[in-house]
Amino acid sequence: MTALPSTDVDTAFARYEAVRARLPRARFPTASREAATLSDVADAYDVFVLDAFGVLNVGERPIAGAVGRVAELRARGKRLVVLTNGATHRRIDALGKYGALGFDFASDEVVSSRDVAAAALAARPAGMLWAAAAGPGARFDDLGARVADLAEDPALLDRADGFLLLSSARWDAAAQERLVAALAARPRPVVVANPDLVAPREHGLSLEPGWWAHDLADRTGLAPAFYGKPYPDAFRAVRALHPDVPPERVAMIGDTLHTDVLGGRAAGFGTVLITAHGLFAGHDARGFVARCGIVPDVICETT
Ligand SMILES: [Mg+2]
Repeated sequence: MTALPSTDVDTAFARYEAVRARLPRARFPTASREAATLSDVADAYDVFVLDAFGVLNVGERPIAGAVGRVAELRARGKRLVVLTNGATHRRIDALGKYGALGFDFASDEVVSSRDVAAAALAARPAGMLWAAAAGPGARFDDLGARVADLAEDPALLDRADGFLLLSSARWDAAAQERLVAALAARPRPVVVANPDLVAPREHGLSLEPGWWAHDLADRTGLAPAFYGKPYPDAFRAVRALHPDVPPERVAMIGDTLHTDVLGGRAAGFGTVLITAHGLFAGHDARGFVARCGIVPDVICETT
């Protein structure tokens, strides 16, 4: 099997900073307080919004202690929401994945950027045919729109009315060249259901749809529509689940400054950066915070 395109944390961080003008703006605290685990900050918040990659799991493995911590927060009466930019899987399949990892999240505790993007597709003209960058064996019956698999039918490059980036599992530089050429020939809308640039896997950082979408924007001048963290629709969907809780009693927990912390802060949530897993694992997370000025309320070692 060919290795997927991947990169390192310094390159990923530099790229996040380079596309900062396309990300929401927010104001940040001047300093972070330190914590060892989410147990230490449980009293400060009523709703815990948990990122998946880097907080609950890394690749296909659960993070040590995360299953127990989720159970503890639940026992302490905290409300839980998983807010993920993972858009490869349908909700029902994602829930099955969390279950297989040992988590007990209910369907109404998960907000995925895939669902947020699907809601946005529903607001576009009916009958549009979307060509999807998707994983192998992908299904689209949950999206409420006409979606076909670009990898299965290259003629979609010419024929589709728009493009939907769900997964980069089968994407590479050659696929990117073909899409750039197709859009240069005939500009069409591009909807990005995973704004992440990279994702932590067991053996490094994979390039995700957001990476390719920003490259596309640079090269075509088109403005892809992004759904998911750090953009506001995803956070509005979380607020809608718990409208009675003031935003400052909601905490966004994540491993990434430019998606979880920036987006959470822009939504008015408290923010907790997890450093031992995910993007900054094995790196000086505080140095990255200082360099970009995206300052979390709490810097926490592990879930
Ligand atoms: Mg993450």
